Amino acid sequence: MYRTHTCGELRLEHNGKKVTLAGWVQRIRKFGSITFVDLRDRYGITQLLLGESLNQQLDQQPLGREFVIQVSGTVTERTNKNPNIPTGDIEITVSDFAILNGAKTPPFTVQDDTDGGDELRMKYRYLDLRRNIVKQNLELRYRVNRSARNFLDSRGFMDIETPFLIKSTPEGARDFVVPSRMNPNEFYALPQSPQTFKQLLMVSGYDRYYQIVKCFRDEDLRADRQPEFTQIDCEMSFVEQEDILNNFEEMLKHIFVEIKGITFNEPFPRMTWDDAMEFYGNDKPDIRFEMKLVNLSETVKGNGFKVFDEAELVVAICAKGCAEYTRKQLDELTEWVKRPQIGMNGLIYARYGTDGTIKSSVDKFFDEGKLKTWAEKCQAEPGDLILVLAGKEERTRKAMSELRLEMGERLGLRDKNVFKPLWVIDFPLFEYAEEENRWVARHHPFTAPKPEHIEWMNDLSKYADIKANAYDIVLNGTEVGGGSIRIFQRDLQEKMFAALGMTPEEANHKFGFLLGAFEYGAPPHGGIAFGFDRLCSLLGGSETIRDFIAFPKNNSGRDVMMDAPSTIDQSQLKELNISLVQ
Ligand code: ASP
Repeated sequence: MYRTHTCGELRLEHNGKKVTLAGWVQRIRKFGSITFVDLRDRYGITQLLLGESLNQQLDQQPLGREFVIQVSGTVTERTNKNPNIPTGDIEITVSDFAILNGAKTPPFTVQDDTDGGDELRMKYRYLDLRRNIVKQNLELRYRVNRSARNFLDSRGFMDIETPFLIKSTPEGARDFVVPSRMNPNEFYALPQSPQTFKQLLMVSGYDRYYQIVKCFRDEDLRADRQPEFTQIDCEMSFVEQEDILNNFEEMLKHIFVEIKGITFNEPFPRMTWDDAMEFYGNDKPDIRFEMKLVNLSETVKGNGFKVFDEAELVVAICAKGCAEYTRKQLDELTEWVKRPQIGMNGLIYARYGTDGTIKSSVDKFFDEGKLKTWAEKCQAEPGDLILVLAGKEERTRKAMSELRLEMGERLGLRDKNVFKPLWVIDFPLFEYAEEENRWVARHHPFTAPKPEHIEWMNDLSKYADIKANAYDIVLNGTEVGGGSIRIFQRDLQEKMFAALGMTPEEANHKFGFLLGAFEYGAPPHGGIAFGFDRLCSLLGGSETIRDFIAFPKNNSGRDVMMDAPSTIDQSQLKELNISLVQ
């Protein structure tokens, strides 16, 4: 037996017990003839005391950081207790030790406040994973996984695996493709999600399906994305949107109780997509704070101020208690909105002084009376600061949504320990892709239009107004899940493909299997998928999903540890019938 206990287990009650431990050397300190070693494993750290009698062996077999050792000895009460660790009352007075394996000096310190930079830690991820902070993240991930599973199991959901080598059926992103050796010149694709499979499972009668599953999308990796990521993927038959929202709201509540000890007594708020866009400027509103967007277009136009008069949209937010912002702060905010990522030409502001006066950066065009109407519209009070952006509708709305989040951040309104989930519902069915000059499915092409809007699918001018039975679950300004009620009739699905610009041949080539299945008794169905990595990172209070993935890729999609992707042998290429363009 390598060990009788783990390094996190022993307490004062074990005093006098003979034990054997095994683990990694975290730290070595020598005091005269005595050596202290912190021994670490997954469960914790235990202090070892190696007395004089072991000095000779230590001279011959010196210990080093990250050595794997085995020690036997007696649990002893410490004189200098360490209240910071659970084993801090005891140490092991070692009688024997053996080095099970040595270790090179690690390239960074294996501790919470490590001296290793990002890339270095990614290269030696197996060492990074030894750090307590990283381990805690993986533990949280495991607990969230188990919590979701337990909930879904208790509701009769069945975990069914679906294949990874599938047909290329783009769902919005680019597919990763895999050449087939046995079928020369043909390719599999890796699934962007199990979408079509879970729908087929509904056709087959498995009316409650789930899977915690890898998905693959070949996208540019800005903004904390990974080419492979994990979803909690779910589908249900004989349900309406309401059933799905209720069921998965309960799942999230269950996870919150188990993982964070937080109980949500009220139903999650629901907001239509239209309202989210109007009041928050985006479809994943952070409702931890108000500061809603106010459309000032009507209020401010026609006063001779060109910027407003020529703008498609003039929109404001009211920053509570910020009237005291200095000129310098305002100039800096102005520079902030001018950054290329935000892309505005300038920022207009009005300070509502605590003395009741209002002063703006456009006093020439707007007297105090007019500024008061701004204040009324924005529900500003003395002491508040009104910030205004004007320009092209879409860009301005987006910029204001960013500015709102930035102000929320600066004002400390985005506390990561406060959780505010909500449902965003009634998404548009289509969205116009400027680059491609065509309508694309906003969610995916299997999403059902609202029944009352189906007839509009014959009228291009109505496309922007068609709403879908599609929904997202949003947590603290981040989309953590999304889904929809699906189309389950062949003719409607064909109509949808046609609306997306597919010829019947194309639709048949890509999705013939699904269209075919819809002719053999497809039940009404719908589902949802949660971004599991993202959910974990939010629950863990971190910005990056990488921290919650055991072996993540870097920003260019590389695994720097195993150095992938990489070239392959000429013989492998030949087998695959592939020749490379140099
Ligand atoms: N497959 C969808 C996605 O990955 C989720 C769903 O509609 O259930 O976004």
